[in-house]
Amino acid sequence: MAATLTDLFDIDRWLTPDERAVRDSVRRFVKDRLLPDVAAHWRNGTFPDDAIPEIAGLGLLGATLHGYGCAGMGPLAYWLALAELERADSGIRSFVSVQGSLCMFPIFSFGSDAQKNHWLPLLGAGKKIGCFGLTEPDAGSDPASMRTRAKKIDGGYIVNGAKRWITNGTRADVCVVWAKTGDLDDPSSIRAFLLEKGMKGFSQTAIERKQSFRCSDTAELVMEDVFVPDDNMLPHAKGLGAALKCLFEARGGISFAVLGAAAQCLEVAVDYAKSRVAFGKPIAGMQLVQGKLASMSNELTKAQALSLQLARLKEAGALEPVQVSMAKMNNVRCALEIARTCRDILGANGITDDYPVMRHMCNLETVYTYEGTNDVHLLVIGQFLTGHAAFRG
Ligand code: FAD
Repeated sequence: MAATLTDLFDIDRWLTPDERAVRDSVRRFVKDRLLPDVAAHWRNGTFPDDAIPEIAGLGLLGATLHGYGCAGMGPLAYWLALAELERADSGIRSFVSVQGSLCMFPIFSFGSDAQKNHWLPLLGAGKKIGCFGLTEPDAGSDPASMRTRAKKIDGGYIVNGAKRWITNGTRADVCVVWAKTGDLDDPSSIRAFLLEKGMKGFSQTAIERKQSFRCSDTAELVMEDVFVPDDNMLPHAKGLGAALKCLFEARGGISFAVLGAAAQCLEVAVDYAKSRVAFGKPIAGMQLVQGKLASMSNELTKAQALSLQLARLKEAGALEPVQVSMAKMNNVRCALEIARTCRDILGANGITDDYPVMRHMCNLETVYTYEGTNDVHLLVIGQFLTGHAAFRG
């Protein structure tokens, strides 16, 4: 029987040898290099910088891009790799998602030849770090209301404003920052600029005291009269749609990846239930515990089937925003529920970092919010079903 604990419907059977090889090599890397230290990184609020060259060596930075030294992987191979990284930690997986889909992808899609030739090889090799600055202190779900401005002057722009909750933000050598070049009520004037570490008036400050994504670098970027040369504007990124295209690119992988955290929680919970004895027998033999395990397995399996279809649509170039919204909403919700239920099965032990479950649960609260909140995706689906946009109530 090919069904396994976290692959009950034998998705593995449909993978190509290349996809399996990518997944297995990332699985080994996660087991040998990330899992031993990840709880300590979480405790200390640090990111495993020493792993970046190896992550790059596995071809995971800008993995699906072609040229510029990138691996040119298929979407399913890349997403399988992300799910393996997510087994270690969402924050580490997010480093890869942001570098590839939110920094390299916009440069690749909207940049000049000079920008691509300069940045993509460096970012793909992990020699430079990138980030994506769209969210502001007062503009998250509604990025069209951003207040960051880029005023045209001779030879460039003067940028003023602030971006908050920016993954990779303090480390980033290059930040894709979105700003309005016209009136504040004109989202069509939104453009993307490459802000570089050390530019005068540009600060990158860590956000402290996080209870989620503690292994991730999350920052506030502040721009005070930063001069950004014309050559640092992405020439083909015009309007908010360009930013949304990058989020769409990242979201498929994120939807797929969270099932890695869910699978790991389920494995830990089954293992624990087999050895934890209560009322004279392992709790794995109790009907209520089995009910919880079976329900989680059922939900995980449905989400995996949806995700496989998501990958097929992506491969066919036929993926639509509403499909990605449904997958993101469903899979994150599913993973979060699984993490919470597994924490319950682990009892008091579940609240310690001797087990990864509570860490995954806390991380998944971030993933529930970023890349479109659960509610925003409900509204996207509602708009598709009814033709009515309900974002403004
Ligand atoms: P809000 O938009 O204020 O939402 C608050 C609540 O209101 C939510 O429940 C939301 O669903 C609800 N709500 C909002 N609008 C509606 C509506 N129309 N109808 C019903 N309910 C609504 N951003 C970046 O640009 N780059 C990054 O790299 C990045 N990384 C992140 C990393 C972390 C750890 C976190 C936590 C966030 C990150 N973000 C990043 C920001 C993230 O994308 C935003 O937090 C997200 O878009 C939500 O925005 P908000 O936090 O302002 O919440």
